[in-house]
Amino acid sequence: ARESLFGDWLIRLPTHVSVSTILRKIINPEGGTRVTDIAVIGSNMVDLIAYIDKMPKAGETLEADDFAMGCGGKGANQAVAAAKLGADVLMMSRVGEDMFADNTIQNLAQFGVDTRHVRKVPGVSSGVAPIMVDRDSQNRILIIPGANKHLLPADIEAAADDLRQCKLIVLQLEIPLATIYRAIEFGNAENIPVILNPAPATTELDLRYACRCDFFMPNETELEILTGMPVHSLEQIEAAASSLLHRGLKHLVVTLGERGALHMHGDKRTHLVAPAVEAVDTTGAGDAFVGCFAANYIATGDIDSSIQRAVQYASHSVTGRGTQTSYATAAQFDSWLE
Ligand code: ATP
Repeated sequence: ARESLFGDWLIRLPTHVSVSTILRKIINPEGGTRVTDIAVIGSNMVDLIAYIDKMPKAGETLEADDFAMGCGGKGANQAVAAAKLGADVLMMSRVGEDMFADNTIQNLAQFGVDTRHVRKVPGVSSGVAPIMVDRDSQNRILIIPGANKHLLPADIEAAADDLRQCKLIVLQLEIPLATIYRAIEFGNAENIPVILNPAPATTELDLRYACRCDFFMPNETELEILTGMPVHSLEQIEAAASSLLHRGLKHLVVTLGERGALHMHGDKRTHLVAPAVEAVDTTGAGDAFVGCFAANYIATGDIDSSIQRAVQYASHSVTGRGTQTSYATAAQFDSWLE
């Protein structure tokens, strides 16, 4: 809990409830110009998962034992994690003109995410990811970005009035780079802090834009791809991270799976250790991390404790199956921490 800004009548606020959330609900319960904590500008994807005994060979037709459909996409995952933790989240994304579109919008809305800027693009499919998982838990994944490729720089301008009300912009790399660069420029011009999670990594990312973000959050593999340096040991990771930091990054946070996370800022290096948990499914752990960091940073303004909490939240997420389904609400997370 933290001290309220309003004196004695609201003495303590839980850390997951932001002052702005309370203010907005008091001042403006029915809407109007909305003040939002976080704008996630990014992807959504529908996972189509077939559980099979063995992978089919070329030309072979096999029957799968089971099938599941799940909502994913790095942008949507991060939006849902932050919303489950009590942040006010606006999602800017594109869906296709197909049966998946309404399902994706409804899924976001059920967690309280503002979906006014999740729009349908005529004539294209939604983003989908057919996945095959065999009995050894090996998987083969196809990503069809579909409508995610149609979130364009001009869309940032079109949504400017609503984006301007946000206090943090969160980006990943599953939408066109030009749109990401425009969103960073917008955040800089409006004095809104920006988080860039460079996932999935591409060497095409212009690191000058990464330096214009307040927080840059790759995982180890992304760090390796972006630097071309090995990342097997913690020393190697720190060396690769230093080489990136020296390009002019502000806060660099590298997630390290079961080893936690490394935060580098100026001369400061902090290694945050992950709690030992029984990992059941690590899918979406990185997104849980980013979403939780965003929610806590908005609520507290404190970077170190927000990273610490993000490590714990992401570690909790690997103890459950699925992606968004494994993300705890604020209450569930707090009781797990006790
Ligand atoms: P994904 O691509 O699956 O979304 P990622 O590779 O981007 O994940 P990781 O660096 O693997 O992200 O993990 C992010 C965070 O999740 C870590 O900082 C840690 O807190 C937690 N985590 C991941 N794997 C484990 C694990 N086996 N045990 C405990 N915590 C874990």
